[in-house]
Amino acid sequence: MKKLTVLLFFILILASCSDQKSINKLSDNEVIGLIYSEAERSTESYENLRYLTTHYTKRLACYPQSIEAAKWTQSIMEDMNFDKVFLQEVKVNNWKRGLQEIGYIKVNGENIPVNVCALGRGIATPENGIEANVIEVNGLIALAQLEQKDVKGKIVFLNQAMNPNLENPFQAYGEAAGQRFMGPILAAEKGAIGAVIRSLTCAIDTFPHTGVTRKIENEPTVPAVAIATKHANQLSDLLKENADLKFYFKTDCKNFPDTITYNAIGELTGSEFPNEYIVIGGHLDAWDNSPGSHDDGGGCMQAIEVLRVFKELGIKPKHSIRAVMYMDEEISQGGGRAYAEQAKRNGEIHITAIESDRGVDKPLGFSIDTSPEKLAKIVSWNEFFKPYDVNVFIAGGGGVDIAPLKDHGTVLMGLLTDPTYYFNYHHSANDTFDKINRSDMQKGAATMAAMVYLIDKNGL
Ligand SMILES: [Zn+2]
Repeated sequence: MKKLTVLLFFILILASCSDQKSINKLSDNEVIGLIYSEAERSTESYENLRYLTTHYTKRLACYPQSIEAAKWTQSIMEDMNFDKVFLQEVKVNNWKRGLQEIGYIKVNGENIPVNVCALGRGIATPENGIEANVIEVNGLIALAQLEQKDVKGKIVFLNQAMNPNLENPFQAYGEAAGQRFMGPILAAEKGAIGAVIRSLTCAIDTFPHTGVTRKIENEPTVPAVAIATKHANQLSDLLKENADLKFYFKTDCKNFPDTITYNAIGELTGSEFPNEYIVIGGHLDAWDNSPGSHDDGGGCMQAIEVLRVFKELGIKPKHSIRAVMYMDEEISQGGGRAYAEQAKRNGEIHITAIESDRGVDKPLGFSIDTSPEKLAKIVSWNEFFKPYDVNVFIAGGGGVDIAPLKDHGTVLMGLLTDPTYYFNYHHSANDTFDKINRSDMQKGAATMAAMVYLIDKNGL
């Protein structure tokens, strides 16, 4: 009931202040209240995310659909009448999955099908696939300790699970991700003919989770697949009963010469400092086996929502505010680099860059990468966010796409969200629109909008 009264209060204020003059009369707490209630009310970004994740489900940066997704994103921002909307050319690595992958455990005369998927930038098997005995190891370090003779001619099964006991799943992901990135290279060094990698998730299910693996010209590697955790457990159990079983898999992926796609950018131009920018963004590309709802269609729609809320409330920023939907976070990070390079060429000053790329569940606060003085100033604003249960303001990284702006002296910030379920969906076909909670997503957008409002008003 209390919540409803507060909401009604802000709706009444909203009705009475549709222009900048009225907004200027309000306290910061009142403006931030309006920002949260406007975001909570609106369904526009949520419906746009539904469209993105059902119509552009193959928007990996090197796929033709990434260009269509960028043009569609441009069109929705044009419909919102932002001051400037444009596309920015990006050069990206070019890897295509090809035909759907297949995998079997071959034991006691039976072929047991398992769910596998190739890793981004990885190489394909020969046309008929590969079949061999399996050697299971608990991650990269265990593989490094094996002797060549124990590995030669086999398929290495890297079965390190993400640690479910860590409070922060991002830390657990970081600890286990080396087996996906370096596993195929180390397997090749040891004389293996292939690698099977346990999917990076704490969930035990049948979704294989892809991700990028290292591919450097002339460095030997082997064909590799990620295997769903349920099937990884099955393979491990069967190996205990029968160490001589065989594994078969077939992939059809290929690396091609670099190609071109686009970042999509919308802007509200600043009234006093048009060449000074505060940018909010996410990455528009997603793995080709995934609709990319949490990673990171949701972050993109939140960034656009920040501008929409400013416009709707009649908040006219002093600095220019941009929503940047970067391309190619997943493979070669071309979008973030292209944006920073173009900003430098144009002589644009970037005060702050905020990224939302940790899923769009309940917002918790910000991870902030800046000097101790600026950090202290931002932390002092946490009072404004307490009514919305947003109270984590910590030093830490901003995000992959905005990292190239660090050289510009830009303050980098990442939106922190509840990480509990993020890796259940991450890089898999399970990252579907129905996993999005509209209220949480909108609250995340409002949290970034409130931060942008405070930075725009007070500077850093
Ligand atoms: Zn992401």
